[in-house]
Amino acid sequence: MTATQRIVIVGGGTAGWMAAALFARFRPAPYAQITLVESDAIGTIGVGEATVPLIQHLNQVLGIHEPDFVAATQGTFKLGIEFVDWCRVGNRHFHGFGDYGEDIDGVPPHHHWLRLHAAGMPEPIEHWSMPWAAASRDRFAPPQAMNGAAAAFKHAYHFDAGLYAQLLRRHAEANGVTRIEGRIAQVLRDGESGDVTALNLDGGREIAGDVFIDCSGFVSLLLGRTLGVDFVDWTHWLPCDRAMAVGSARGGRFTPFTRSTARAAGWQWRIPLQHRSGNGMVYASRHLSDDEAAATLLANLDGAPLGDPRPLKFTTGRRARFWEHNVVAIGLAAGFMEPLESTSIQLIQTGLARLIELLPSGVIDPAIVTEYNRQTITEYERIRDFLIAHYCLTQRDEPLWQECRAMTLPDTLAHKLATWDASARVPLYDLESHQEPSWVAILTGQERLPRGWDATAGQTDATRLAALFAERRDALARAAEKMPPHDRFIERTCMAIAA
Ligand SMILES: Cc1cc2nc3c(=O)[nH]c(=O)nc-3n(C[C@H](O)[C@H](O)[C@H](O)COP(=O)(O)OP(=O)(O)OC[C@H]3O[C@@H](n4cnc5c(N)ncnc54)[C@H](O)[C@@H]3O)c2cc1C
Repeated sequence: MTATQRIVIVGGGTAGWMAAALFARFRPAPYAQITLVESDAIGTIGVGEATVPLIQHLNQVLGIHEPDFVAATQGTFKLGIEFVDWCRVGNRHFHGFGDYGEDIDGVPPHHHWLRLHAAGMPEPIEHWSMPWAAASRDRFAPPQAMNGAAAAFKHAYHFDAGLYAQLLRRHAEANGVTRIEGRIAQVLRDGESGDVTALNLDGGREIAGDVFIDCSGFVSLLLGRTLGVDFVDWTHWLPCDRAMAVGSARGGRFTPFTRSTARAAGWQWRIPLQHRSGNGMVYASRHLSDDEAAATLLANLDGAPLGDPRPLKFTTGRRARFWEHNVVAIGLAAGFMEPLESTSIQLIQTGLARLIELLPSGVIDPAIVTEYNRQTITEYERIRDFLIAHYCLTQRDEPLWQECRAMTLPDTLAHKLATWDASARVPLYDLESHQEPSWVAILTGQERLPRGWDATAGQTDATRLAALFAERRDALARAAEKMPPHDRFIERTCMAIAA
């Protein structure tokens, strides 16, 4: 039998505890010995409360049941993101976790919608989205409770990041993970191979390992600081570099969606939780001071603030490589793209899934490292392009947005937009997180309409098409009306127990 692999996880934020829980599940003793080191004095970033549907899969493999998970994290359900004032002030659109119904005459419905829209039909495309039908009525039921077209959607969650880390910690520790509290003062490396061999903590304790998972947050203690892997800066494409976060008292019902409202020099999020709302301003420091950001945030809350806004600084981009020697960075230590589409926790999850798939129990072959880095870089770049599309397609006229409109786009995004303009199709690359309906939501919502539509769609009988669209929209609306209100669904199934 191969020797037990010593896996050391650096950091106990969302990334660290997700890594610990998943490795405990897929590399239990005696195959691996898993140790997590975290420093209470340093703490965690304490934000990261909106997710995408993939997280359901994480809970499933860990055996965490949805009602227990939602109750333990003061969670609510998320059907998508409402974008307010992004295209221009007064405009709203919705990116839901679903599509726009089945193909009509073999063609995706957005082509037919474009045709109807060009003929003067004013309704936005989300009127044919089940997530929007439910979210716009503050209603929620899981897809498995629905039938037919009304069941064709997914859901994610909003949760308290601190409570989620605690839940994962309980899970990981119950499955054999050892937690060590302390500040890492020094990282030791092998003189010949350059591999990391051990961590020295304040007070002299040494923790040796075979594989190190760097979940140390923005400091990127092992990959960035110790191994010197460069940071690839994407600020020229995603210009926001600051955030201001504050909780607020819940104002009324909790909506089953995240709201993102564009402001003059950035945007504001609102994430509904059971016990409070999470709020934040993401902004470009070149265009807005911290004081102005805090004032804007506080002036636009649904309820009373629960403390002072907390400033956070970040640089958008990624490490040039995510896996170097025997160190793999996950989470903020690997890179960061702003939370506009709640993709950071998703990237933690997919990074870990990929690592678990590829990490051998013995010697690490360089081909594996190359493949891990190739896939992860590709996935980051695809999300980057999707986020840039939100910025560059705006019609707003404040300086930040004017700059975004004028920026030179990555070739991959420029090709996507040009293909969309010419054909109403979105070319998808390898490892895309966002499929065509997601792009259609953002492109049509930002009023970037193509020059035409699929030729076959042009042949569908116009009267039949209008009737079919009306029928589909009304069927979704009726199905949504049958769902319980979101807050009542939570009260019945997964209300947190008051402390
Ligand atoms: C403004 C903002 C909003 C966000 N919103 C979302 C969102 O809605 N959805 C989403 O998916 N993601 C979001 N994110 C990203 C999300 O917060 C992170 O991806 C997630 O919290 C993971 O963080 P982490 O575990 O990598 O780092 P951290 O939470 O920073 O944890 C780092 C850990 O490393 C430890 N550590 C560091 N140095 C040492 C040392 N020397 N010795 C010992 N321990 C050490 C710390 O103590 C801590 O335990 C947001 C991020 C920001 C900045």
